[in-house]
Amino acid sequence: VGERRGKGDNMATLARSVLVTGSNRGIGLELVRQLAASPRPPQHIFATCRDASGLRGKVSAWGCLPARGARVRIWDLGSWPLLGVYTVDLPSIRGAMQTVETHLEGQGLNLLINNAGVGSQATLQSVDAQEMLATFAVNVVGPLQVAKVCEFLPLLEKAAKDAGTEGLSCSRAAIINVSSKVGSIGLCLGVLEAPMYPYRASKAAQNMVTRCLAEELRDKGILCAAIHPGWVKTDMGTEQAPMTVERSMQGILEVLGILSQETCGAFLDWEGNRLPW
Ligand code: NDP
Repeated sequence: VGERRGKGDNMATLARSVLVTGSNRGIGLELVRQLAASPRPPQHIFATCRDASGLRGKVSAWGCLPARGARVRIWDLGSWPLLGVYTVDLPSIRGAMQTVETHLEGQGLNLLINNAGVGSQATLQSVDAQEMLATFAVNVVGPLQVAKVCEFLPLLEKAAKDAGTEGLSCSRAAIINVSSKVGSIGLCLGVLEAPMYPYRASKAAQNMVTRCLAEELRDKGILCAAIHPGWVKTDMGTEQAPMTVERSMQGILEVLGILSQETCGAFLDWEGNRLPW
């Protein structure tokens, strides 16, 4: 298992194995790219998305990767339903889990990053039940299902058990949920400028899932935290966003490297600042 890193440690091994959801574009894609291009990349990077074909092309365009020894493996994790369905595509999650297990050859999965998410601009006038449910399905039910006892959790528990250390860290075993500052009830930022009722409510609910997971899994040696990436130029963040995806991911990877017992169950931004729930 990779050792704990400090800020400015120039990307020592964050974790031996990492799985990222929603990795075909935006934040997920850049996370996978930076992990794979780091001087000491994880031994296993599992890049999951709902249409693997486009991602394969992008990853093979990063020609330098095999030379650096990073193995990026790509899976179609199925489509998380957008239409008021309360479950995600369990068969595809289970299929991916079994394949991941095979590749890990008896080792556990160290780091699960629940990044896949959907935005929603619905206002008080335009919001409807279907939009609320669709957003909750992807942003709340999805991350919870992926982390469930019957899905990836046993692989994380295995990693935590086999690490041979006591403290909590991403190199041992962790679930990171990519959240958003606009889901903070404590801050309740700019409601009139950015109403986004479904998105805000879904991220607040996802935050509660993160807190509950942190409480429940802490004693099993699994760290859970929520990370706000900043306002980032992606399809969701739009071109108006002030920050590049490269800068945001550099920050996030540094923050992930210093997460510990003290930050288990925390809501942090890409610079490591604590945010109110
Ligand atoms: P993008 O819209 O660029 O990418 C979203 C990713 O989520 C894509 O990989 C997409 O897959 C996947 N996804 C969307 N809907 C589904 C679904 N129904 N089932 C499975 N996967 C799905 O967004 P970002 O990269 O900007 O966002 C990534 C995360 O960061 C999200 O959780 C978002 O809430 C969060 N975030 C982003 C901010 C920003 O400014 N960009 C700010 C704060 C938080 P596909 O290509 O197949 O649609």
